[in-house]
Amino acid sequence: MTVIAGSLYDPANGDFEAVDGESLPLMRARRLRRRRQTFIVAGASHVINIALLAVFAAAGTISITLVMVFTCCAIAKVAAFMAVSESGLSDRWKDHFLAAPYTAVTCAMMLGFIYAAPQVAVVFLCAFFLIANVIAFRAEPLRGAIACMMISGGVIALYLLADLPLVAPSGNALERLATLLTFAATLARIMFINIFASRVRDGLFRRSAALETAYKRIEELAEVDELTGALNRRSIMKLLDDEIARCQQNDLPCSIALIDLDHFKQINDRFGHLTGDEVLRTFAISIFANIRGIDKFGRFGGEEFLMLLPETSHDSATRMLDRLRVIVETLDWSAFSDGLTVTISAGVATLRASETSESLLARADIALYAAKERGRNRIAAA
Ligand code: GH3
Ligand code: MG
Ligand code: MG
Repeated sequence: MTVIAGSLYDPANGDFEAVDGESLPLMRARRLRRRRQTFIVAGASHVINIALLAVFAAAGTISITLVMVFTCCAIAKVAAFMAVSESGLSDRWKDHFLAAPYTAVTCAMMLGFIYAAPQVAVVFLCAFFLIANVIAFRAEPLRGAIACMMISGGVIALYLLADLPLVAPSGNALERLATLLTFAATLARIMFINIFASRVRDGLFRRSAALETAYKRIEELAEVDELTGALNRRSIMKLLDDEIARCQQNDLPCSIALIDLDHFKQINDRFGHLTGDEVLRTFAISIFANIRGIDKFGRFGGEEFLMLLPETSHDSATRMLDRLRVIVETLDWSAFSDGLTVTISAGVATLRASETSESLLARADIALYAAKERGRNRIAAA
């Protein structure tokens, strides 16, 4: 199966509406429904052909017997294919729609009637336009091209070998009307097939676009914290390990900071949880707006965040964090709620030779605790 945007398209089965994870009985019922619809449409198309032949019979171009024979052949063909379809036998085949055998039998039938009644061949020749359209909709391009070449070859061979006259009946007004009706009915059916095909493709395209958006969202959710847009804990921890390995390998300095919002519980209690969420979001945005491209910022949990400062010495990191602390403190938080103020505390730690991420984080955490102990709204160094 090939995943095409939104739905699963199974080219082998011509199944444009395959649904991922669908159970076997449900899939069989859906396919049977689609086959019934297809045979009803094919039957209706034959009813149009029968009506056209009846007009030719009324105009005296052909006998009524020919119309009866064509009707019997059409009924027998559609009934036989419907019986196979209803029995569920074709469900086991790749071409469960029976498209290839149905097309082959229809082509043979049309060629037979061209031979038997070349004076109304226009009806049967026009049927080939419909067949070609259906093939173009369902078959793979190469197979479709081969099928169309075989049909053209068959028609040309029949006319040349059997030396049939190539005529469009126009001897009297009713004959001319029947010929023109054949043209109009063909046009209408081709339109129907193409509108149906474009509807199916539009549906596929829409489902594909929706699936793509969903995939993107899943990918983002796997990396990003939904509330703040910062990296989630898993991502920032992975980046921390990568960064430590890179800096140790290249003998580069690397600093981290654990940042915690001060008295956040009180903010929630006093201004409400929604304002608390808004504070977290705004805090994250202000941080993103004031860090370098190489710095990484992730939510460590709750109102605690981890910042990676690659290639940054201890002094630079402490200065950077103090600058961020002032930015947060001086933001106009009262715009959210009267009397709201927000401050942060942070613990900065710089990587030591052959230190692990656990030890580095533990030192940053101790420094953060010290900053809180000393009265909050300050940066402490490990
Ligand atoms: P301290 O200055 O010592 O850090 O005190 P604090 O109140 O900030 O710390 P504490 O750990 O007591 O409380 C943290 C609070 O953060 C409790 C929790 O409900 C809240 N919190 C955690 N995650 C979220 C969140 O996503 N949204 C909101 N609104 N609150 C959150
Ligand atoms: Mg806190
Ligand atoms: Mg905390």
